[in-house]
Amino acid sequence: MKTEIVSFDADGTVVDNSFVNEFWFGELPRLYAQKQGINLEQAVETLSTYYDQVGDEDLRWYQPGYWFEEFGLSDNPTSVIKKIKKNHDLNIYKDAIEVINKLNRQYKLIVISNSPRIFLDFSLKEVEDKFDKIYSCVSDFGMVKKDERVYKRVIEELETDPGKVLHVGDHWKFDYKVPKSLGIKTFFINRDNNTQPGEDSEVITDLREILFAIT
Ligand SMILES: [Mg+2]
Repeated sequence: MKTEIVSFDADGTVVDNSFVNEFWFGELPRLYAQKQGINLEQAVETLSTYYDQVGDEDLRWYQPGYWFEEFGLSDNPTSVIKKIKKNHDLNIYKDAIEVINKLNRQYKLIVISNSPRIFLDFSLKEVEDKFDKIYSCVSDFGMVKKDERVYKRVIEELETDPGKVLHVGDHWKFDYKVPKSLGIKTFFINRDNNTQPGEDSEVITDLREILFAIT
């Protein structure tokens, strides 16, 4: 089936993780350290343990509001994000910009991300006008991409067929295994070029490889 829609994950695929990392491993530990009277290093360690306990398959993991409440922080996510925005340059991957600009003429482009809307509004702002639709699974559907219903819902909403959708992302399960199981054409982007199982032709290290593989 001919591809009509190209779908991208956001963090680690279109934009690097520096902004989200600054939130989870920079600003949040800083606030936590202040509150608890511990040093930053200890705070990073403690928070990382909490994050890992909840894990990225759990909706709460993605929700800044949940963690502010959990840690009893008086500041709020919006003001912290604003603070980061002021000092932060956006890092959209070069290959992503090139691919988005090329495919955008011929295909409908969308984003399917687990990031909350308040993150995406900032991190994708340089390229958001190139996309027909930007889905935040967490904010729009109250679900994580591990759940195939996310992809089913997008397909239903766009009145398309899984065979006409190509999805690319950097999470082996959420961006590769799950959509693939539904018949979506999938590519796993392995930017660090780590050893990775899977069919070689669907594991890429640069988004431009899609340009040659798309049918
Ligand atoms: Mg990602």
